[in-house]
Amino acid sequence: MDQVECVVVGAGVVGLAVARALALAGREVLVLEAASGIGTGISSRNSEVIHAGLHGAADWLKVRLCVQGRRLLYAYCAERGIAHSACGKLLVATTTSELPQLQALAQRAARNGVEDLTLLSAAQARALEPELDCQAALWSPSSGIIDSHALMLALQGDLEHAGGLVVFNSTLARADCGANQLDLCTSDGSVLRTRLLVNCAGLQASGLAASFSGLAPDLVPQTRFAKGSYFLLQGRAPFSRLIYPMPQAGGLGVHLTLDLAGQARFGPDVQWVDRADDWLVDPARGDAFYAEVRRYWPGLPDGALQPGYAGIRPKLNAPHESAQDFMIQGPAEHGVPGLVNLFGIESPGLTSSLAIAQHVVKLLP
Ligand SMILES: Cc1cc2nc3c(=O)[nH]c(=O)nc-3n(C[C@H](O)[C@H](O)[C@H](O)COP(=O)(O)OP(=O)(O)OC[C@H]3O[C@@H](n4cnc5c(N)ncnc54)[C@H](O)[C@@H]3O)c2cc1C
Repeated sequence: MDQVECVVVGAGVVGLAVARALALAGREVLVLEAASGIGTGISSRNSEVIHAGLHGAADWLKVRLCVQGRRLLYAYCAERGIAHSACGKLLVATTTSELPQLQALAQRAARNGVEDLTLLSAAQARALEPELDCQAALWSPSSGIIDSHALMLALQGDLEHAGGLVVFNSTLARADCGANQLDLCTSDGSVLRTRLLVNCAGLQASGLAASFSGLAPDLVPQTRFAKGSYFLLQGRAPFSRLIYPMPQAGGLGVHLTLDLAGQARFGPDVQWVDRADDWLVDPARGDAFYAEVRRYWPGLPDGALQPGYAGIRPKLNAPHESAQDFMIQGPAEHGVPGLVNLFGIESPGLTSSLAIAQHVVKLLP
């Protein structure tokens, strides 16, 4: 039977960051990836925003890893020449009734360790973005955007340089967890023995963990799927900063983000779906976008939005339940030596990826 010290399942941004960190710590690492390339799952279907850490409670792992991860990510981008821009973000209250929510967000962000926010009047916000309509705004200068594929290529490069390897078209079907080793069976019938297994399977993480014999089934949370569709703006955007309305249930509201080429996109909205591969954008959803976007950009022309792409959030809460923290379970939580499962790694998982990797390395013996 083939043996390897560590196996990471999934070559999305989180799996690659974890595998790199393990390899840099001197471990022998193999990444099993079901697809034929890196980052074909959630990691290539998001807003590519480097979040500051404004949302969520200060005692959440998600928030701590976001704040740490953002600092690590800017430093890594500078070190490796990964395209990014600290373009900043304006979080806007579009009605006077939203002003208390904006104030509360500012206070929460300060508790989260985000210390560079400025509250702007409507006139100050318009001086930055003349097409913007709002009552007040919160300016976050450390929010930014990143070329997420370039990030993943850099992580893969570091992993391979440190002796690690990604094996493509290789799906982990199940694992038998023993006291000293884990025996992994891939869907083509191969068996691989390892000492350490990190499940970074994204949308499939719960389904995969449910197939691990030796892991108590009641410790595997149900993952639900909340799809987010994007619509692209035809023509040039009149904004050079990211614009976010107040958060809505299940997401951050239909916001405006820019890619590094200046293309503006709006979204993602929130649509609960049954399947993890429901990537098609229904053009009819665009109708609701016009009203949402015109709350902060009344000048959005008719017919300017085209269907873009969709991503799917792995949610640990049901539609009408409150949002949940990331769930990263190591041996101390589930009692299986050498196993770490990552569940519910939705936004800001991209921003947090390098900090998640450091966290996972510390959970392993
Ligand atoms: C709509 C949307 C917008 C977002 N926007 C942002 C943002 O702006 N900023 C931010 O910080 N975060 C954002 N996020 C979150 C971020 O994109 C994710 O947290 C991150 O990409 C998750 O990466 P991952 O590696 O866990 O998952 P994935 O990228 O999905 O990787 C999992 C991999 O595991 C593989 N796999 C699954 N099962 C198996 C198996 N059995 N065997 C082998 N391989 C397997 C899959 O093929 C896949 O490649 C957003 C998410 C969504 C959905």
